[in-house]
Amino acid sequence: MIAFDNSFARLLPQMFTPQAPIPVRAPQMLAVNTALAAQLGIDTDWLASDDALQVWSGNAVPAGAFPLAQLYAGHQFGNWNPQLGDGRAVLLGEVICTDGIRRDIQLKGSGRTPYSRGGDGRAWLGPVLREYLVSEAMAAMGVPTTRALAAVATGEDVLRETALPGAILTRVARSHIRVGTFQVHASRQDIPALQALTDHVIARHYPDADGVPALLSAIVAAQAELIARWMGLGFIHGVMNTDNMAISGETIDYGPCAFMDAYNPAQVFSSIDRGGRYSYANQPGIALWNLAQLATALIPLMPDPDAAIEDFTTRINRFSDIYQAAWVQVFGAKIGLADPQIADAELIQQLLTLMAQDGADFTNTFANLAGPQAQDQFTDRDAFAAWVADWQKRRAPDHAEIMARANPQIIPRNHQIEAVIAAATNDDMAPFHALLAVVTRPYDPPVGTRAPFAKPPTAQQIVTATFCGT
Ligand code: AMP
Ligand code: MG
Repeated sequence: MIAFDNSFARLLPQMFTPQAPIPVRAPQMLAVNTALAAQLGIDTDWLASDDALQVWSGNAVPAGAFPLAQLYAGHQFGNWNPQLGDGRAVLLGEVICTDGIRRDIQLKGSGRTPYSRGGDGRAWLGPVLREYLVSEAMAAMGVPTTRALAAVATGEDVLRETALPGAILTRVARSHIRVGTFQVHASRQDIPALQALTDHVIARHYPDADGVPALLSAIVAAQAELIARWMGLGFIHGVMNTDNMAISGETIDYGPCAFMDAYNPAQVFSSIDRGGRYSYANQPGIALWNLAQLATALIPLMPDPDAAIEDFTTRINRFSDIYQAAWVQVFGAKIGLADPQIADAELIQQLLTLMAQDGADFTNTFANLAGPQAQDQFTDRDAFAAWVADWQKRRAPDHAEIMARANPQIIPRNHQIEAVIAAATNDDMAPFHALLAVVTRPYDPPVGTRAPFAKPPTAQQIVTATFCGT
């Protein structure tokens, strides 16, 4: 039913551990992604069948799969952890999609593995539904991201602070290779594994890179562009550890992530990010820090390490220029510029400063900027009017169309996600499906949905903290 071709499993044995998913008691289908299944070449009728439920729950291993847990390491909040790995996930295998791209199919929440350490290998319903909603919203907004193919309830409780309903997400990604996947082999001085991983990544993700230095540059560019896209949506990843940064340039690991409501560059949601390391405004700097760890991990592959350090430093430092250029493209489109230039950064920054002063709603300010209610977001109407005067001189004649393509009307807001999870915990999946239907049409939400779903939270509804949910 699924045409697997498992290239990662053909790499060296020390890079993973064969590991079947652990069966669950009473699986139930919560959601399936028909459009994504079609892209994967999976029969969309089969997708929601009982046979498929057995696969998505980990109760049956489909023909052709080679379930395995990947080894990786990582810096978590800046602290080196020499061994992490898939502790609650297994890679079922890979498929070549209808667009010709190879993608992983992974079960997340599928039980213990050799890398589980103290964990139970499971996930509860909340983070599974959060990842489903947010990753599918990101995909709909054109941001490189892992996807959600299915969500199932396990029929088992998982113990966190209390007993919570267990769930499994079927995640689809260009690969699950992370900065930490390189780090683990570098730290073990396992050059054959490091080389095999590098060759695999070049062939799979960056076929134009003619060697390790070019690979590094390509990854730097992909990350700079990705982070600029996050910034343009007010998205805060929340846990940008090196093990949560995908080499492919896709957004991965939707743990304590959130879209901001009120604009505040210092915003942090994650309950465990006490120092604000992964705040909104810190994201580009942290990406650069993570890329420096990647560069360090690649040095052992170079014949002349000293020369490589110098060359890699130059390549890493290009991040800032690439990021700045991408940021201007992203935000320039958000204010309706036809051909944004670096010099436009000032105009954009002036608006962001006004937004920060008033805690203006990030999404709605941009979505309504060309409309008559734009000034309602600002208390200093004179300052906003002065900004508009400058803006009018610069914006494109067709700015409204440019802005409509660049600015989502709807993003999955924290309070909405929390409400969906609360309902699902009480066996009501209807709010999940209602929210999913709207956030996957962010630029042209279904008729009648825009007003209710675009509404920022009331004072009582504001969510101040998000949780990893591990
Ligand atoms: P995260 O910060 O969520 O990306 O996870 C960091 C590490 O902890 C990874 O190696 C995960 O596989 C592992 N982990 C997270 N939650 C669990 C769990 N419930 N059981 C086992 N391992 C886990
Ligand atoms: Mg992770």
